[in-house]
Amino acid sequence: MRLSGKVTIVTGAASGIGHATALRFGKEGARVVVCDLNAAGIDAVVSEILAAGGEAVGYVVNVTNKAQIAEMVAGVKAKWGRIDVLVNNAGIVADAQLTKMTEEQFDRVIDINLKGVYNCTRAVVDTMVEQASGVILNASSVVGLYGNFGQTNYAAAKFGVIGFTKTWAKELGKKGIRSNAVCPGFVATPILKDMPEKVIQAMEDKVPMRRLAQPEEIASVYLFLASDDASYINGAVLSVDGGLVI
Ligand code: NAD
Repeated sequence: MRLSGKVTIVTGAASGIGHATALRFGKEGARVVVCDLNAAGIDAVVSEILAAGGEAVGYVVNVTNKAQIAEMVAGVKAKWGRIDVLVNNAGIVADAQLTKMTEEQFDRVIDINLKGVYNCTRAVVDTMVEQASGVILNASSVVGLYGNFGQTNYAAAKFGVIGFTKTWAKELGKKGIRSNAVCPGFVATPILKDMPEKVIQAMEDKVPMRRLAQPEEIASVYLFLASDDASYINGAVLSVDGGLVI
């Protein structure tokens, strides 16, 4: 077991990459905090982890809501006494070209994908500093490296997340806390549900491996970065994209 007893919060854990990460971490011995907006989805993931012999607890939390985050952090500390890993995975898309994007679309994506990462990290970092150990993992994207048509808001957030990661790596490294970002390419999750089939096909054609990633293939990278196998990796921005951005 690579994460025995590691108390891990995964945001956006009711679906897609977060779901796969919560399950994988549970199988590797982590005590998993399943955090999401979707209460039914949380219950299903918690049940799945418990059924596999793992430990998990669920919290309905909006990452834009500091009071809800604080309540979750207090609850986790009361239950398990510490927080070892935070996977800042929750994220949405609200795509439109610049000339058509509404301010509401812009603000919603920045609030969740960028400020949500700040909110959750801010809420756990004092605990990690007290422990003199911790791992912060941030979901960026290939869009956070190269931009993308129709994603002014999402690109800004995902570039920003890389800025957080490098800044926190510098500020917190000496306190025993590692911060790293993962940049998935195209992953087969519900976030792609509104994409027409021909757009998905075009995505697959662009990838040298000619397929989308499965969420488990991103979860295994979070597992590596959370584990002691990555004990000297800090401030890294790791593309997991089948060669998309070569
Ligand atoms: P998904 O839509 O399958 O899951 C996202 C989860 O986040 C959902 O369960 C949703 O309820 C939750 N969520 C949304 N807003 C929230 C909020 N305000 N507070 C708490 N939870 C909230 O998405 P996914 O594809 O698994 O994406 C996960 C992360 O990976 C996102 O940050 C996304 O930007 C990033 N990513 C995904 C892809 C991809 O191709 N799927 C590629 C690159 C990066």
